[in-house]
Amino acid sequence: MATKKTVKKVVTPDDSRETFVSLQKSFADSGLSVNEKLKVLYQLQAADNEIDKLVQLRGELPAEVTVLENEIAALRAKIVRLNENIASEEAAIEVNKGKMAEHEADILKYQAQIDKIANSREYDSISKELENENLLLRIADKFITEARDRIVESRKQIGEIEERVSIREDDLAAKNEELASIVSSTAEEEKKYTEKREALAAKLDARTMSAYERIKASTHNHLAVVPVYREEACGGCFNTITPQRLVDIASGNKLVICEHCGRIIVGSDI
Ligand SMILES: [Zn+2]
Repeated sequence: MATKKTVKKVVTPDDSRETFVSLQKSFADSGLSVNEKLKVLYQLQAADNEIDKLVQLRGELPAEVTVLENEIAALRAKIVRLNENIASEEAAIEVNKGKMAEHEADILKYQAQIDKIANSREYDSISKELENENLLLRIADKFITEARDRIVESRKQIGEIEERVSIREDDLAAKNEELASIVSSTAEEEKKYTEKREALAAKLDARTMSAYERIKASTHNHLAVVPVYREEACGGCFNTITPQRLVDIASGNKLVICEHCGRIIVGSDI
């Protein structure tokens, strides 16, 4: 740990990147004695450990619930998109039905004309129009047939997706129920420790709390305050503690920070 840098942090009271090292000089400047402050910190850590244990009982359930909720939302969005496609296909079918009616009327008109025609030039011209109208009629008819096929396909997809949604919803309900039963079985205990934690946190100044939360959040085992391990090592990182520091820890009146991991080390009497 860069001591020069962290010592500099002491003169910056609003530093949100607080560590125990940056607090070292001001640690004693509070209503509580160093010994009392260490005790409060250790009890706070103990309460947080209990809360962590209770939260761990929920295991992967909260994450699994989130995955299912996201999956269901994505499937529902897909159904919405497919229904929008169906609506636009249906509108296009109506347009083409209108076109077909116009072409059919034109065909009838040209057919009536062609029956009364005397010269062949006029006949050629009208029969070309007839041919054209018949072609356009077939194009509109083909479009309608294909659009109907696409609608059938979309409806089939919607049916399949709805089935998947219903299965996922059953999964989700089961997981939510399981989670709720775990949460309710531990709710009282969790409330007890949470209240304890809040009462302890209220005794500490903002900078100490900020350092505590930061170190706790940055370590894999969520420990910021640890006891001495086997009378010689840091209970957080298990590196050996120097004899002088062991004496300081045993005194209970000094803030001792592990030089390897930055955690506060407290004695067994704390
Ligand atoms: Zn350590």
